[in-house]
Amino acid sequence: MSISITSRAAWGARAWNGSPARVSLSQRTEFFVHWFGGVPGNPTGAALAREVERLHMNGNGWAGVGYNWIVDQDGNIFEGRGWDLQGAHCPGHNVSGFGVLIAVGKGGAKASAKALSAARGLYDEACRKTGRTLAKRGHRDGIATECPGPDLYAWVKNGMPAEKPATPKPAPKPKPKKYEPFPGAAFFKRAPRSAIVTAMGKRLVAEGCSAYVSGPGPQWTEADRKSYAKWQRKLGFTGADADGYPGKTSWDKLRVPEV
Ligand SMILES: [Zn+2]
Repeated sequence: MSISITSRAAWGARAWNGSPARVSLSQRTEFFVHWFGGVPGNPTGAALAREVERLHMNGNGWAGVGYNWIVDQDGNIFEGRGWDLQGAHCPGHNVSGFGVLIAVGKGGAKASAKALSAARGLYDEACRKTGRTLAKRGHRDGIATECPGPDLYAWVKNGMPAEKPATPKPAPKPKPKKYEPFPGAAFFKRAPRSAIVTAMGKRLVAEGCSAYVSGPGPQWTEADRKSYAKWQRKLGFTGADADGYPGKTSWDKLRVPEV
């Protein structure tokens, strides 16, 4: 899936307090998932990113948001340390590991499908950018902690499945239309009473070749013959070839639905 990341400038981040070290993509081998820990006051929107920033800068004294990204419950992604800067999310793993926060916490709501999908999108993009399959980790895989909580940890261990966006069902193929095979010229000369005659008459009307006063109906009448003659003339037949009795060529072109 394609991902869209709201930049620090766009969500109103404060200037870094200091300058986080740069990390090259080639140094990345892991991808860590975190939860909020407590219950986020702002589970969605830029206010969530600012809330995390305040905790990390004012509370922990860090340079800014310690995660590489923050994912809210609507599936929005907010830039923290991003692709290039060393995080402050898991001691011993901040160079090798990207870290993403998903905005759920103790007693809080479960991560939404959108949030999980966004986090998975980040993981896939991280693998693409680094050119390797990054190890999927929960915070507790790096250090003794409850983070990312039982549900998110189970999700990580389960391979971070994300719902694929619903692909529209291909429209069912229209069944090839079947046409009534030519019943033979003699059939019509016997003045038949048949559903074939009705079907033929309807097609003649549709082709603008009606000499019907009423109908068409199942009984072959002079109106059918005159109507069919119009069809033959429409096709360019003249004389005996436009006598109103169906021949195979004009019949096949009329495409009478199978009865
Ligand atoms: Zn954590």
